[in-house]
Amino acid sequence: MSAVSWIDEFPARIAALDAAHLRRARRAVVPAKGAHLLVDGTPMLAFCSNDYLGLAAHSALAEAACAATREFGMGSGGSALVSGHSTANAELEEDLARFVQLPRALYFYAGYATNVGIIPALVGAGDALFSDELNHACLIDGARLSRATVHRYPHADLAALSALLAASPARRKLVITDAVFSMDGDVADLRALLALCERHDALLLIDDAHGFGVLGPQGRGTLAEAGLTGAHASPRVLYMATLSKAAGVAGAFVAGPGPLIEWLVQKARSYIFATAAPALLARALQASLRVIATDDWRRTQLHARIDQLRAGLAPLLQRTSWRLAESRTPVQALVIGANDEALAVMEGLRARGLWVPAIRPPTVPEGTARLRIALSAAHTEADVAQLLHALAKLAPHA
Ligand SMILES: *Cc1c(COP(=O)(O)O)cnc(C)c1O
Repeated sequence: MSAVSWIDEFPARIAALDAAHLRRARRAVVPAKGAHLLVDGTPMLAFCSNDYLGLAAHSALAEAACAATREFGMGSGGSALVSGHSTANAELEEDLARFVQLPRALYFYAGYATNVGIIPALVGAGDALFSDELNHACLIDGARLSRATVHRYPHADLAALSALLAASPARRKLVITDAVFSMDGDVADLRALLALCERHDALLLIDDAHGFGVLGPQGRGTLAEAGLTGAHASPRVLYMATLSKAAGVAGAFVAGPGPLIEWLVQKARSYIFATAAPALLARALQASLRVIATDDWRRTQLHARIDQLRAGLAPLLQRTSWRLAESRTPVQALVIGANDEALAVMEGLRARGLWVPAIRPPTVPEGTARLRIALSAAHTEADVAQLLHALAKLAPHA
């Protein structure tokens, strides 16, 4: 009798995930009004969406997509370097470059694919990469794929980064960082990072998935907020952001100096060997950019909800060991500590119709299991009040 084939081991491997409480399930969702959803048929108020400005349900975006579908059809029919690059996609790239005040932009079908494609196009074996330890998975995966030597530095530790840059003999150095860190919501010091890159002749790649649309004047992003766009744009910065979060649609882009963007068109494999994004998404995104630029009230409302949550949690933080990570962004991390306690609070919220995910190690450091509360302009004051009330009930009483 032959040994058990590895192909027959998957049921046992899934059972092991179950036993370790690591098996994840998808929930089937239908949007309702505002931040309310039907989740597997049950109404829930969600604090886990990245739709930070409430644009996913905006009628102007849907209208633009419908009109584009009638004009262009559904699929793009080809990769961008063959026949898939529609006039809509080309116009979107011009709008994006203008909006973020950088010379040129390149539109990808997904944020994950953007970082996985552009990092290996920029550096390879013998080159050096410098990566914040809390960077998003797609920066990490892009770094691995590049085969450059990866130096991970402690979160936001510029002294450590400086020492690593100084010690590296590589001629090509690339620093990669989230602009807004996705698990804590804190913002990278882009000016200081750029200064280090200038000193060490490094290129800086910034992932602004959670800042685009939210931070900076008219939501132009974290780089604009730092004053590093327009006349102050640097030739050594590539700015990447997703269009699936605050912009409310799908896809992503990278913007920066013309020659760098042209190089990425030529060499980013996830761009070249994938079918171009459909024109209907580009048209929806053009509409989204107009709303982002004009609807300042959405950012005002979002920031009012952030202030309301932080002020409302203050009494609770006094009487528990819970901690609220420093953050002025829609990502608010309520660090609870032990895994089972974080899960119990998540379940308690769920029982009250509130959907807030618990994030546990290894996604976050050991002992810092947390609720990751994502706020949106779609939340009303009453929505946040309901969450605060439930958390006060679920918190341990001294
Ligand atoms: C969501 C996210 C991405 C991936 O973007 P998609 O468009 O969802 O593929 C990339 N980077 C960061 C920091 C993100 O949070």
